[in-house]
Amino acid sequence: MSFDSINPYNGEKMTSYKELNADETVAAVESAHEVFQSWRTTTFDDRKQILKAFAEELRSRKDEFAKLITLEMGKRIEESRSEIDFCADIVDFYADGAEEFLADHEMETDTGDAYIQYQPLGVLLGVMPWNFPFYQVVRFASPNLMAGNVVMVKHASNVPQCAKAIEDLFKKVGLPDNAYTNLFIPTEFVNSIIDHDAVQGVSLTGSDAAGSAVAERAGKQIKKSVLELGGNDAFIVLDDADLESTIESAVKGRMQNTGQSCVASKRFIVLESVADEFMNGFKKAMSELKMGDPMDPETDMGPLSTESAAADLLEKVQSTINAGAKVVLGGDRPDSKGAFFNPTILTEITSDMPTYDQELFGPVASVYVVKDEQAAIELANDSSYGLGGSVYTQDIDRGRRVAEQVQTGMMFINQPTNSQEELPFGGIKKSGYGRELSKLGILEFVNKKLVHAP
Ligand code: NDP
Repeated sequence: MSFDSINPYNGEKMTSYKELNADETVAAVESAHEVFQSWRTTTFDDRKQILKAFAEELRSRKDEFAKLITLEMGKRIEESRSEIDFCADIVDFYADGAEEFLADHEMETDTGDAYIQYQPLGVLLGVMPWNFPFYQVVRFASPNLMAGNVVMVKHASNVPQCAKAIEDLFKKVGLPDNAYTNLFIPTEFVNSIIDHDAVQGVSLTGSDAAGSAVAERAGKQIKKSVLELGGNDAFIVLDDADLESTIESAVKGRMQNTGQSCVASKRFIVLESVADEFMNGFKKAMSELKMGDPMDPETDMGPLSTESAAADLLEKVQSTINAGAKVVLGGDRPDSKGAFFNPTILTEITSDMPTYDQELFGPVASVYVVKDEQAAIELANDSSYGLGGSVYTQDIDRGRRVAEQVQTGMMFINQPTNSQEELPFGGIKKSGYGRELSKLGILEFVNKKLVHAP
């Protein structure tokens, strides 16, 4: 078996990589365990030098890495460049901040002297998706390497060139061999890695099905897991929103990465007094997007990541239309070659329709019209997911009041959900558990060890 790198814009196979067999996989885990014994004893400064060099290389070779992302999963080239910039910022954030984030923490007690020390756990496994092929890995690897853990990554099978490039880059900047390992393995091997005694935790970003499978195995082995899964983010438009900027945010929130983001705005919940105006403006802006080659800087919207992703989305959209949803725009695929999907707006979706509570991973917006603020909050909360969300209003206090009542891990006012290295990222309900980024992200896979003397 091999890992094939296929360009979703034209279907061409670019290259392929051989999979590891079971013995090679176990040997890789054992090598990672061995290097952990020395990596854990390095100083923050030692680690910082290596990670800083990694960030520098990302910046200086931005075009090369951005091109790989675009060729493998179809992201617009400008977005690919931004992804690489963001990765460099994340790496710097942890390289500079880890020592402070993990400094011993004195505790108040009248029974003597007590403090918490943050110690690394060991070998960690990351199971990562293709939608942000550099960012997802860097978000997991950089805090954990700075904390003294070593990491192994089973990346999504459709982005092997990106997976390999990240491993090569860590090697190039002087990370000890096996402190970061890319695993070209079939998903069936994930369980045996989780089962291995040397492996202390697993972090998965992807679908709830994959998250559930991995967490079940980790739970069986009593190992820590972090899950960053799907979302069905609400985008709540209140009656005092500035509609021009709100519509701009709606297009950006839904169409970033051709809609293939866990925190994309997916359910547009609009108060009825502004619904017609919002819908007209949103439809116009969505219909003006120019589809095309993601390598061309003039393109607004590239293909989806794979042909099967586009086919799967079409099936979901069609089932909703067949169940009675109204198509405001699109609803189908263009005739052109490549994994394209037309910008789509659906409305009149009811709770008995198949996609009401499903994540639509692509350029498909569902618009709901509600009578007031309370109805908007109730609809936003009627979801199995609880990742992010946003609310639009000219009254920030009102925005906060609504934001505080929506059951998600993150809420944003007058901007679509986004991620920043210094702010925590993660969800509740079927969107997973644990937090990435910020100080919280580096505290997930460390032993928060109490030392107490009388
Ligand atoms: P998956 O969840 O299947 O893939 C994510 C990662 O998990 C990949 O590395 C995949 O490997 C791996 N994986 C899949 N199944 C298992 C398993 N049983 N045990 C261990 N690892 C597993 O996502 P898809 O790419 O199939 O996308 C399907 C849907 O998932 C999307 O439509 C979207 O709704 C959601 N998704 C959410 C993402 C997010 O950012 N939260 C990112 C990607 C998808 P392999 O590639 O080899 O199958």
